[in-house]
Amino acid sequence: MTNRILFCRLNAMSKNKAIFLDRDGVINKLIMKEGVGRAPYSIDDFEMFEGVIEACQKLKDSQFLNIIVTNQPDVSRGWVSLESVKIINSKILELVAIDDIKICFHTNEDQCLCRKPAPGMLLEAAKEWEIDLSQSYMIGDRYGDLSAGISAGCKTILVGPGDSKVIKGEFPIPDFKANSLWEAVEWILMQV
Ligand SMILES: [Mg+2]
Ligand SMILES: [Zn+2]
Repeated sequence: MTNRILFCRLNAMSKNKAIFLDRDGVINKLIMKEGVGRAPYSIDDFEMFEGVIEACQKLKDSQFLNIIVTNQPDVSRGWVSLESVKIINSKILELVAIDDIKICFHTNEDQCLCRKPAPGMLLEAAKEWEIDLSQSYMIGDRYGDLSAGISAGCKTILVGPGDSKVIKGEFPIPDFKANSLWEAVEWILMQV
């Protein structure tokens, strides 16, 4: 009995901490069309930012789980194939120390619970991986990423200038603004 109680206590104390990473605009570059950035639609369009591999390895070395949470509504819209998304994600898993990738394929009209700014993907991952969300961070390049992170109870980091909502100073304000994932990771590792 005593052993069992001790085990439960240890378990409660040893919850994981995670870094939730947006994909497009954080891991890989956006494809710019008439001033608007979108996801790469094929592996030929896929280009990672410099320092991503090293940044994610640093997080791993500091006992963080690295989990990508990505909206891919263009699959439902028929603008990119599911196969392409899978190929790009496999490439990321092959090159980068990523533990899991959660994808929402819905559009706004579906009103799902997983499409960022909703926190569904983070909450699902937290259950699966026993994550302490208060010890975790969401890193993204858009308002929706920050919103999802805050709703899930994580700290948030904006990478890059932000989308129009962020630039207008609309809530939520990130805990830190970085120019790159590498810079974001350096800041995180100063907090722990
Ligand atoms: Mg993005
Ligand atoms: Zn969804």
